[in-house]
Amino acid sequence: MSGGQERTTSQAEWLERYGASHIGVFGAPGLVISRGEGCWVWDVDGRRYLDLVSGIAVNALGHSHPELVAAISKQAGELVHVSNFFTTTAQVGAAERILALADAPAGSGVFFTNSGTESVEAAIKLSRRTGRSRIVALEGAFHGRSTGALALTHKAAYREPFEPLIPHVVHVPPGDVAALRAAVDERTAMVLLEPVQGEAGVLPLDGDYLRAAREVTREVGALLVLDEIQTGIGRTGAWFAHQHHGVVPDAMTLAKGLGGGVPIGALVTFGPETTALLAPGQHGSTFGGNPLACSAALTVLDTIESEGLVTRAGELGEHLVAAVAALEDPRLGPVRGLGLLRAIPLRGLASTDVVAAARRAGFIVNPVAPDAIRLAPPLVITAAELDGFVTALPSILDDATRSSS
Ligand SMILES: *Cc1c(COP(=O)(O)O)cnc(C)c1O
Repeated sequence: MSGGQERTTSQAEWLERYGASHIGVFGAPGLVISRGEGCWVWDVDGRRYLDLVSGIAVNALGHSHPELVAAISKQAGELVHVSNFFTTTAQVGAAERILALADAPAGSGVFFTNSGTESVEAAIKLSRRTGRSRIVALEGAFHGRSTGALALTHKAAYREPFEPLIPHVVHVPPGDVAALRAAVDERTAMVLLEPVQGEAGVLPLDGDYLRAAREVTREVGALLVLDEIQTGIGRTGAWFAHQHHGVVPDAMTLAKGLGGGVPIGALVTFGPETTALLAPGQHGSTFGGNPLACSAALTVLDTIESEGLVTRAGELGEHLVAAVAALEDPRLGPVRGLGLLRAIPLRGLASTDVVAAARRAGFIVNPVAPDAIRLAPPLVITAAELDGFVTALPSILDDATRSSS
């Protein structure tokens, strides 16, 4: 453009156009983001933010990581899609890598999907192949929004407008072994658990409870399936959160961090008996396992390993806990969670006000509960970047108080 006619569209205008062109399920977006690098993103007005949410535990390598950019670019130049009539070296490589990192025994298997919800759907179908239909999940659980997965999600506001959903699902209180024992019997197909309940507010289950769930399901011949969509891929300081507790599930669901931002999920079955439950023709996906997504996954896993990010997630998580505690700010409770999946409890402040104040100060955090903010930063974040946020936190809380609605 020339002659003084050049003008950039402002963020406010883009947001207006978003509202006029989208189904409103997400409400109004907070920002129009134009690019990212490492743990930082920029909006279309040129403002910079430290991204402490990473697309809800998705951008494990941060934004524009050179290894991921190179792998996706190379793969795009070679092959993007082939259908499941065929396979690719990227697909085989990614499946083998996941099984190795999960310490899965011989005869284990991977089914690739395109999202977390689809991974949970695959788990539901897997469980039906036991010949049983009852499913036990937890109060507070989030397992996705499709009409199958939605039945397992606990929040009534998500479920009730869409009932009737699939039947025979019960939700029991997390951490209560007696309630679990009472709910599980020979008619139970699967017990589905998040090792850390993410959307419920970052609430870790303790090892004893997970071990009890393993025992109870084994006794009655039900599947123990762990939803590691948010907790997997190094996020909690182990490749998969169940590895902290020495519990081996019958299956687990993955997505979020697996592709570092490229959509890919997986159902992973442990051992030949569970793997054999789904026979040829009983499930499928057009895009699932495509070489673009699988090369991204392979690169994410390789890079997390070569950069030592799993151990670092554990260390940086502890660093964050200590740094927030050292503020001795009465408006903050003790940080909960595992590794780099964390929530900071708030006292006397609404999380939405704190999130808005944090954004004004150049930080992206998430209001995971009315009284807590979630941090799930890229695994490549540095201690200095985390400290930058913690140092700013008291003034963010001051601002949130001043401008509370
Ligand atoms: C995000 C999430 C899902 C749903 O994943 P989508 O990719 O949004 O379909 C399911 N379970 C858990 C634990 C999640 O965090």
